Amino acid sequence: MELNETRTPRHVDANARKRSSATAVRILLAGLLCAAAAFGGAAALDDPRIHELLDIRIGTAPRAVGVAGNDGAQPASVAPETPPPGFEEADEPLSTPARPAVASDSYRFLAVNGDGSPVGYSPCRPLHYVVNAALAPAGAEHLVPDAISAISAATGITFVYDGTTAEQPSAQRPPYQPEAYGERWAPLLISWTTPEAAPQLKGKVIGTGGSTHFGYDGGPKTFVTGGLDLDAPQIANELQHPDGPMYATAVILHELSHVMGLDHVEDHTQLMYPEIGLPEGLSDGDLNGLFQLSKVPCRKDL
Ligand SMILES: [Zn+2]
Repeated sequence: MELNETRTPRHVDANARKRSSATAVRILLAGLLCAAAAFGGAAALDDPRIHELLDIRIGTAPRAVGVAGNDGAQPASVAPETPPPGFEEADEPLSTPARPAVASDSYRFLAVNGDGSPVGYSPCRPLHYVVNAALAPAGAEHLVPDAISAISAATGITFVYDGTTAEQPSAQRPPYQPEAYGERWAPLLISWTTPEAAPQLKGKVIGTGGSTHFGYDGGPKTFVTGGLDLDAPQIANELQHPDGPMYATAVILHELSHVMGLDHVEDHTQLMYPEIGLPEGLSDGDLNGLFQLSKVPCRKDL
C-alpha cells in the first residue's frame, strides 16, 4: 500500500498596506498581498517517492511546477511514520454549518482530488491546535480564538485548543510527532513568530498558512495538520492603530482559510482576494467555499 503525503503550499502574505496621515481615514489600498510560497514534498511508505510541487502566484490558482511521478531514488526509510488511523473520528460530522445566506461561487480550492472534489479536513473529528504565544503582541490575546470561532462556524469543524507550545514553525514540520503530541496527527501549529525564526516572513510578508494532506494509492486526500505563522512584530505595529485588531483579524481569517483549503480569488470583494481593502472579514464567496469544505468525507482510515 502506498501512502502519499503532500504538503500543500504555504501562502505568504505580504502586507503592502498604505497609510495616509493627511486624512482621518487611513487608506487601506493594498492591505494584504499574497505572494508566492511554494513547496511540496511527498513520500511513500513502500514505493519510491512521488514528488509533487505546487507553486502559488499572486492571484492565480495553484500551478503544478513539478509533475507527480516516480523519481525512483528515495528509499522507503525516508517515509514518514503515521499515527494509528481514525483517532477521534466519529461516524458523522461533528457539526453541520448553516448554509451561507447568500449563494456565491466566488471561491477556489487549494487542492482537489482527481474527481474535482476539494481537499479539506475531516468534519468527523476535532481539529486540535496549539499556539506558540511567546511573542504574541499585547492586545492580541483574543484574535486567534475569535478567528477560530468564525472559521469553525463557517466550516462546522470543531477546533480544540490544546494550549501553548514551544514548537517553532518549520517548513519541514513532521505531520506526526508522537513524542510531542501523542499517537495522533500533530495539531495545527499557530505561531507568533518573527522573520528571523521563520524566514518566509521576511520583508513585507505578514503571515503564512498551509496544511498537509494524506491519501492512499491515489485515492482522495484529506488534510491532517497544518501551520499558520504570524509576524508578531508587524502585527504588533498594526495593533497600534484604531482599526488594527480588525485588520489583524482579517489577516488571521485569510490565513486560516488557506489552512482550511481555500485559495485566492480575483474577486476583490472576498477576503481571499490577494489584497484586502477594508478588512470586513469573510464575504459570501469565502463563506460558500468554506461551506463546501464542510462536506468532505470522514476518514476513519487516516
Ligand atoms: Zn493568501
